[in-house]
Amino acid sequence: MNLELSEEQTAVRQLAKDFTDREITPHVVQWDRAESVDRAIVRKLGALGFLGLTIPEEYGGSGGDHLAYCLVTEELGRGDSSVRGIVSVSLGLVAKTVAHWGTEEQKRQWLPGLTSGELVGCFGLTEPGTGSDAGNLTTRAVRDGDDYVINGSKMFITNGTWADVVLLFARSTDAPGHKGVSAFLVPTDTPGLTRREIHGKLGLRGQATAELFLEDVRVPASAMLASEGKGFSVAMSALAKGRMSVAAGCVGIAQAALDSAVKYATEREQFGRTIAHHQLVQELITDIAVDVDAARLLTWRVADLIDRGQPFVTEASKAKLFASEAAVRAANNALQVFGGYGYIDEYPAGKLLRDARVMTLYEGTSQIQKLVIGRALTGVSAF
Ligand code: FAD
Repeated sequence: MNLELSEEQTAVRQLAKDFTDREITPHVVQWDRAESVDRAIVRKLGALGFLGLTIPEEYGGSGGDHLAYCLVTEELGRGDSSVRGIVSVSLGLVAKTVAHWGTEEQKRQWLPGLTSGELVGCFGLTEPGTGSDAGNLTTRAVRDGDDYVINGSKMFITNGTWADVVLLFARSTDAPGHKGVSAFLVPTDTPGLTRREIHGKLGLRGQATAELFLEDVRVPASAMLASEGKGFSVAMSALAKGRMSVAAGCVGIAQAALDSAVKYATEREQFGRTIAHHQLVQELITDIAVDVDAARLLTWRVADLIDRGQPFVTEASKAKLFASEAAVRAANNALQVFGGYGYIDEYPAGKLLRDARVMTLYEGTSQIQKLVIGRALTGVSAF
């Protein structure tokens, strides 16, 4: 693996860094308190091409490889995980999945809007009764002439109340072999689809997480993504790449923890000198730095494997598992460096910790990542 970034990768990283410092960092406390980022950020992300990375230019994408996508995701995650998550879902889980599995018509219908930020996408897999065991979902799509009629509900859907389209997973067939799940691209203004925002989250407070309710939602058969019964494969392929994106966001959190801890430690004085002089404070900072590097290298390896067309699913689980736990550790260590000031939101460590915590839960909990890795190592499925 070549660890040297190309000129394009260096340029896009700098673009994302400048954007984060200018458009995100100054607002994060206010957005966190208000429980909403400024929606105008989506168009700005689109204008810079950050919502079109890895998508072919003919569909409005900005091209680029997965390492470039990681670099941008890291920088956005350094600024605000709520903003990073909008990109990880609308581009990472929805647009990239449409680009991979969609018909020409579906690509032309959805990709230009999603990549420009004119449209927002969400990914509807989890249900109130099925999270880790997503294959057992109960939302049902029944064929009726040229249409499908969908009934059910979805839980914890990122971008849920903002989205114009939901990539929705529903059971449409009892045919054996594929868990009977199909994927549909459902416009959120379709009659029968209602949404309720979930408030009171520990972190990612700026993000519109929602419950979706589907009552006799009618979509044409042409809204199906990939063939009938292929939906679970569609979901798993989206999440495998999605885990790289989450891992990159976690690297960003850990980097923010490192930057802020170093700055504070070299300014704050106790016992007549800056706290950076105290060895135990240096230990906290060193532990963060090692976590940043290790998480980044694991994440970049996944990007490199994807860009070279190599198998990457197990490596994506390793990166997501390590990086998410590392982000929690790093943010917690940073909070310790800040002492009591780490406990109030005028300083960044507390929010970093709250935002990091969910990374060990979504797109497969840490336990589920271990089962994916364990299955690859032993050949035994222990789910
Ligand atoms: P459960 O599956 O009920 O798990 C509970 C506990 O049991 C966990 O510790 C888990 O690790 C453990 N467990 C379960 N099965 C096993 C097993 N076989 N072996 C060992 N331990 C096990 N979903 C979407 O579809 N789209 C989204 O956009 C989305 N965004 C989200 C945003 C937020 C803020 C949150 C909190 C969640 C989001 N989710 C989304 C849902 C998320 O993916 C699920 O919460 C996650 O998969 C876990 O499911 P669960 O919450 O039902 O927990």
